Amino acid sequence: MDMFIDGGWQAAGSGATFPVTDPRSGSLVDSVPAGGAAEADAAIAAAARAFADWKTTPMADRVRIVKACAQSMRDTAAEVGNLLHAELGRPQAACVGEIARSADLLDIYAEEGLRLAATMPLGAAPGEKTIVTREPVGVVVAITPFNYPVTLLMFKLGAALVAGCTMVAKPSEDTPLSTLKLAAIFHRAGLPAGVFNVVTGGRELGEALVAHPVPRKIAFTGSVPAGKAIAAAAAQTMKRLTLELGGHSAAIVCADADLDKAAAAIVRHGFANTGQFCYRVGRVFVERPVYEEFLAKLAERARALTLAPAGGEGDLGPLVNEKIFATSARQSDDARAKGARILTGGARATGPGYDAGFYFPPTLIADATPEMEVMQHETFGPVIGIAPVDSPAEGVALANASPYGLAAFAFTRDLARGLTLCEQLEAGSVWLNDIQRSSHYVPFGGMKESGLGREKGRYGVESYLEYKTIYLSYEVPQ
Ligand code: NAD
Repeated sequence: MDMFIDGGWQAAGSGATFPVTDPRSGSLVDSVPAGGAAEADAAIAAAARAFADWKTTPMADRVRIVKACAQSMRDTAAEVGNLLHAELGRPQAACVGEIARSADLLDIYAEEGLRLAATMPLGAAPGEKTIVTREPVGVVVAITPFNYPVTLLMFKLGAALVAGCTMVAKPSEDTPLSTLKLAAIFHRAGLPAGVFNVVTGGRELGEALVAHPVPRKIAFTGSVPAGKAIAAAAAQTMKRLTLELGGHSAAIVCADADLDKAAAAIVRHGFANTGQFCYRVGRVFVERPVYEEFLAKLAERARALTLAPAGGEGDLGPLVNEKIFATSARQSDDARAKGARILTGGARATGPGYDAGFYFPPTLIADATPEMEVMQHETFGPVIGIAPVDSPAEGVALANASPYGLAAFAFTRDLARGLTLCEQLEAGSVWLNDIQRSSHYVPFGGMKESGLGREKGRYGVESYLEYKTIYLSYEVPQ
């Protein structure tokens, strides 16, 4: 597949490409252009040309087109989902589900667009009015990771389009195909040429997009180190930023919790997408009286999850590449060497159907201590560290002793204690007594080093708008 710029397919000027492989088998799925500064420039120029018309397109028309894009995603969910399945390796049904669920987000953003309004304070003197309105920030660069490439792009694209912005997106090198495919589908659904462009390449292309003087905002989802580099580079041209970065989210399980429900939620959430999930549970603090009982419940559920081999069925696919795999292996080895108990998993899965991919089984590390890597750094893989605590307060202190602040989880039947824990935990979203998917209607984002700004719902749309104040004077007829 080529890049999608200004409503058409384009190769890189150099003719260079890079391969996209199936993480289960290592086989070639397709190749895409290795874009650089010239392609960044061409895509941004197309987005800038399109911005002039798109920002003045009436809201009702923008909303109609965004809703048509949502419907086109539903209509092509199987086709795009299969492509995602091939490039990411996640089981197929979950890939198709990601496309359909992302379409809902476009619809929600469209509805938020219809509710936007300017305001006019009533305090002005006769012959004066002050209008507080909002305008689109301009051309937006979206840079996205591999783990939920379509969902995380729609977090940004739907809000940007409704606000009147145009976009250049750079998907991850591992998973560019589903994004490219959607660009063509959206164009067919009615999105004008240049409003949404997709370029492919690695970090060098990302840096060229961020440094370019024309875009006014960078919307980035990815790791903390990349987010810091982007924030520093974007400061040179004072671009607006939304940063959704890494997490190492903690769960606190109190002695009075519904242990079955807590174990089911933590296993489901901690191992979804083989742990390649930003707000997954990575650390668990359990009150000592129920510690061993809870470990047994977690282990029983984790052992029941199966790995889907190349060409076969199962609950979890491989990790996307060797770099992502290496963290799970290193954290497991480090914990083992420092005396932790590996309850299940802990080493790469091998054998027929597994050897060509980086498969790592669900891994539970009990008796984890703060010095262990698994309790300090994001895993982005299927490894959970678990430790006993003497009180919920000790759990909060350990949970908050982290540079991350994306999500947190608490389990207790005592509602007063639960609400207090929710208030004390330093995280952008906190779940009490179960872990649902994050809702499309409410803000999502991180505290501390987990990011800057919020996405989803009206909060997401607002971050693509600038306030403008208009002071109006006129002669009052006598
Ligand atoms: P990554 O940071 O390595 O790469 C993400 C994207 O940024 C890629 O497209 C990459 O090419 C690009 N990039 C990297 N360095 C860049 C630079 N200096 N300038 C411009 N572009 C650059 O992340 P990844 O390995 O693809 O994804 C995993 C990370 O993403 C994890 O840390 C995870 O927590 C995070 N993530 C966060 C959320 C969230 O909502 N907070 C959601 C999903 C993933």
